[in-house]
Amino acid sequence: MTRYEYDEEASQRFHMDVVYEIDDRPTPVARWLDAMRRLNSINDPLARRILALHRDCGSGSGACDSGLEDEPIARRVGWGCETTSVIAHHFGVDYPEAPPAPD
Ligand SMILES: [Zn+2]
Repeated sequence: MTRYEYDEEASQRFHMDVVYEIDDRPTPVARWLDAMRRLNSINDPLARRILALHRDCGSGSGACDSGLEDEPIARRVGWGCETTSVIAHHFGVDYPEAPPAPD
């Protein structure tokens, strides 16, 4: 089920309603671990080196992050950055699907 979170601070800052869509389906952490496991199956040495450089992307402190704020693993819903995503796609590695929403 999709949940929405009202960002009070941002709403005040931008003088408009800022609402985030929250994917609160279960096990984002398990999905992320699975994603990392899939990336680890890539044996290409260059790809592995590039992935190592981008390992922290999406966490808030990675090479591609603007250092805005920490993003806990539980809130990540995709590859940390475009570079990681491109490599994953090239090697046919999909980010694990979220479990279907219960309804
Ligand atoms: Zn990156």
